[in-house]
Amino acid sequence: MNVIVDLCVVPIGVGVSVSEYVAACERILDEAGLRHQMHAYGTNIEGEWDQVFTAVKRCHEVVHQMGAPRISTSLKVGTRCDRAQTMQDKIDSVNSKLKGEPPPSRHPDYEQGAAQGKELMSEDCIFCKIVTGEIPSDQLYQDELVTAFRDISPQAPVHLLIVPNRHFNDFGQMGDEQAAIMGRIAEVAGLLAVEEGVAPDGWRFVTNIGENGGQEVLHTHFHLLGGRPLGPLLAR
Ligand code: 5GP
Ligand code: ZN
Repeated sequence: MNVIVDLCVVPIGVGVSVSEYVAACERILDEAGLRHQMHAYGTNIEGEWDQVFTAVKRCHEVVHQMGAPRISTSLKVGTRCDRAQTMQDKIDSVNSKLKGEPPPSRHPDYEQGAAQGKELMSEDCIFCKIVTGEIPSDQLYQDELVTAFRDISPQAPVHLLIVPNRHFNDFGQMGDEQAAIMGRIAEVAGLLAVEEGVAPDGWRFVTNIGENGGQEVLHTHFHLLGGRPLGPLLAR
């Protein structure tokens, strides 16, 4: 059976830069003869099920050998039996719909960062470090776009933070280029509200921006609060 996966191997305890580990994994995929396409938050791979998963195992073995004491990998796995479809087919299908339409606008920070070849991560940011695992957290969820963890100083029985993995100073800096991230945040918030048992009685989802907004950590984050009546939106 053929499979398409999206693999994101995150070595933990090795510092902020993971590019040498990613390079090692890319080499493994090359050697395995698998078709693969790296992107900013992982790599798409397609091939025969056993071959793909043998390569994923090998990535873990090699990254451990390189010195990573822990590895947290997220993996999306897709198979279909109604027809054959390659990764390129999926991309072509979307591209064909985009033909004739203007290209999507990118946020200026993104253009600037991409032009300078920067990793879009801020070196001194607590939440960037929580995303990579450099700073420990009580993590509840992580995929290639977003991470959710418990607030260290909860203001309600359930107080979670959901953040994009990529660094943006605040929500106001995000644009339509980040539609996928924002959609994922909405989806994960809904799922976690159910998992945490606050969905039936209701919950609050807020983001603070800047000084008047009371933002303390300059990395876009959403507070998911619940577990008791939360009162009016603003303190009176
Ligand atoms: P803000 O005031 O910026 O909207 O919210 C920042 C939130 O991050 C606060 O609720 C604070 O308790 C939480 N926070 C700050 N540092 C850490 C940390 O190191 N770990 C976790 N889990 N939460 C943190
Ligand atoms: Zn950050």
